[in-house]
Amino acid sequence: MPIRAVLWDIDDTLFDYSGAERAGVLRHLAAEGIVLTEPEAGDAVRRWHEVMCLHYARFVQGELTLGEHRRERVRGFLGRVLTDQEADGWYGRYREHFQDEWRIFPDVLPALDAVETAGLRQGLLSNSAAGFQDHKLRRLGIRDRFEVLVCSDDLGCAKPDPDAFHAACMAMNLEPEEVAYVGDRWDTDARAAADAGLTGVWLDRSGTVPTEETAAVARITGLAELLPAIAAPGAPSAAGALPGPPGDTRAGTLQR
Ligand SMILES: [Mg+2]
Repeated sequence: MPIRAVLWDIDDTLFDYSGAERAGVLRHLAAEGIVLTEPEAGDAVRRWHEVMCLHYARFVQGELTLGEHRRERVRGFLGRVLTDQEADGWYGRYREHFQDEWRIFPDVLPALDAVETAGLRQGLLSNSAAGFQDHKLRRLGIRDRFEVLVCSDDLGCAKPDPDAFHAACMAMNLEPEEVAYVGDRWDTDARAAADAGLTGVWLDRSGTVPTEETAAVARITGLAELLPAIAAPGAPSAAGALPGPPGDTRAGTLQR
C-alpha cells in the first residue's frame, strides 16, 4: 500500500525543545540572580531536564495535569516546598525565557516543502496537550502545514501505545500502512510506530552508534534523508511506494 502521509512528532523532531530548554533555564537562572560557574551551569541544565523527564512522564500517564507537572518540576529542581502560586510564578518567569528560545531545526522547512511537493499529506502526533502544542506551532509559524494535531492529552493514551498511532491515522482517514511516522525517539516513536503498522522512522540527529536494539528501526540523521528513506526499496511497509524527489539518486539511503 503506498505511503500517503507523513505523521510527525513535534518536540526535538521539528522543534528544538532541548536547545530551548537549555538556553531558557540558564537565562532564567541568571535573571533570578543565580550566578553559576561553568560546571554548575551544566549541572543545573541536567537537573532541570531530569525533573522535566520525571514529571512529564507522570503527565503523559495522566497522573498530573500539564500545570501540576510544571509545579512539580519547579519544586523538584529547587528542592524545597513551594505554594502553587510560588511554583507558578517561578515557572512563568522561566517560560518567558524558554519561549524566547523557541526555534525549529534548520532542516524542517525544506523537509515540509519536499513532503508537500511529493504529494504527501502531513499531520502531527504528540505526547502532549493540544492547546500548548497548537500555541507553540503557531508561534513557530508552521501550524498551518499540518492537517491534524493529535495529542495524548485528548486521546487518553500515548505513544508507544498503538492506539495513539491508530487514532492519528483515523484522524487523517488513512490506514496505518499508508502513513510514515517520524520522531526523535527510536523506541517510543520509530519502533512503536512500526509495531502499530506504520512505517516508523527514527530521526537520530546526534548520529549515535546504532546498538543491536536500535539497529532494528529505520534511521535517518537529518530530515533531508526522509523522503529517500520512506521511498527506499526495503523500507518497512513502504517498498516501492514512493518515488524519490526529482533528481534524487540516493535510493537506498535508509539506514537500518
Ligand atoms: Mg520528540
